[in-house]
Amino acid sequence: MSQKQNLISVTDARDTVLNSVQVLSSERLDLFASLDRVMSENVIATRLQPPWDNSAMDGYAVRSADVAAATDTSPTLLSVTEHIAAGYRSSRGIGKGEAVQIMTGAPIPEGADAVVRSEDTDQIDDSTVSIKKSVPAGKDLRRAGEDLSPGDLLLPAGTRIRPAEIGLLASNNQTYVSVHRRPRVAILSTGDEIADIGEDTYDARIIDSNSYSLTAQVLDAGATPIRLGISRDDPTELESMLRAGLSADAIITSGGVSVGEYDFVKSALGALGTTMEFWKVAMTPGRPFAFGTIQDTLAFGLPGNPVAAMVTFELFVRPALIKMSGGSKLYRPTVRAKLLGDIGKTKGRKQFLRMQLFERENQLYANPTGAQGSGILRSMSLADGLAITHEDQTLIRAGDEVEVMLLGGDSVHSFTRNC
Ligand code: AMP
Ligand code: MG
Repeated sequence: MSQKQNLISVTDARDTVLNSVQVLSSERLDLFASLDRVMSENVIATRLQPPWDNSAMDGYAVRSADVAAATDTSPTLLSVTEHIAAGYRSSRGIGKGEAVQIMTGAPIPEGADAVVRSEDTDQIDDSTVSIKKSVPAGKDLRRAGEDLSPGDLLLPAGTRIRPAEIGLLASNNQTYVSVHRRPRVAILSTGDEIADIGEDTYDARIIDSNSYSLTAQVLDAGATPIRLGISRDDPTELESMLRAGLSADAIITSGGVSVGEYDFVKSALGALGTTMEFWKVAMTPGRPFAFGTIQDTLAFGLPGNPVAAMVTFELFVRPALIKMSGGSKLYRPTVRAKLLGDIGKTKGRKQFLRMQLFERENQLYANPTGAQGSGILRSMSLADGLAITHEDQTLIRAGDEVEVMLLGGDSVHSFTRNC
């Protein structure tokens, strides 16, 4: 089989991954613990909202018929029978020729059908008001149940809980909500050359950065990381360390999937009974990539190069974790920007180019963050987003429009950064 036939497109790889994802079970959490989780059940309104007709303004509750002739030059005088603040209720209602001074949110007294705003009145004394404007029935009233009635769908399953949803649930008089579990994700670095922070980097060893950036990406995706450590390139050690990750919803390894080396990860995962697929994905960075399932656990074999590991996480692992969490917005938002400088690329691969974004005179520009080698993590750190290119392109010229996938954080605000 030729190398080309071994290649799989980014879209096909992603579809295969997402088709294997099961949405996780749910748990009941108190409101604040549920922030950023996805609801697993519909929540039905139990209360009338607002609970009674109430005033939308500070002013005077009146019978609209009494003030039909009121104008600035010929005001209508009404007798003020009560002063009602929010939290209090009129004791007797109003009759003909009467008004009640009322604050925003207070229940409308029996007999009143409109509110005249304070600015359209003059208080003559404690018991008389001059009304300078006529109002139609219903003016500045908030009707009982205009927001919600018992039985209405307050929030559908699948809603991500943000502060507004916390407030809405609280207004429904509930302190708990059912949400999907956070995915638990085991992370393992592989390689004889990999040392942990603080360990001796004798001979040709380098410090593990992948398990740290991947742990942070897992946290950022709303999942719980389980750090398994570093395995040598040894099938027995790999297998026993991976076994420790089988209780998780997903396992992520980095390294050991490139040609000549991938047999270690392959044999270790094979020994655990996985149905693993090894792909050469038609993309840069991140060509070698392995995916499969071991019982109920998804296994992702990411490439070892630090940028390739992060980019393949973004494209394949993050959407899977969001789907597991019950979320529906699986992908990062993208923007369109004008490229600064020509970029040459390999035909047949989708290239993800690290870009800094900025805005000048209402035009968004994308500037490459420097050398695009898949090990150059600093250029990832400088990037606001990844420009997504087409497989067939070989040259993207300065001034061409590119689609840029935002990487989160403050990438949206950084547009204001000056060139
Ligand atoms: P591999 O896919 O194992 O051939 O690794 C590709 C490159 O990524 C090599 O230069 C490795 O040293 C590097 N690499 C692998 N794992 C890590 C890691 N955990 N942290 C930083 N670099 C790594
Ligand atoms: Mg390796």
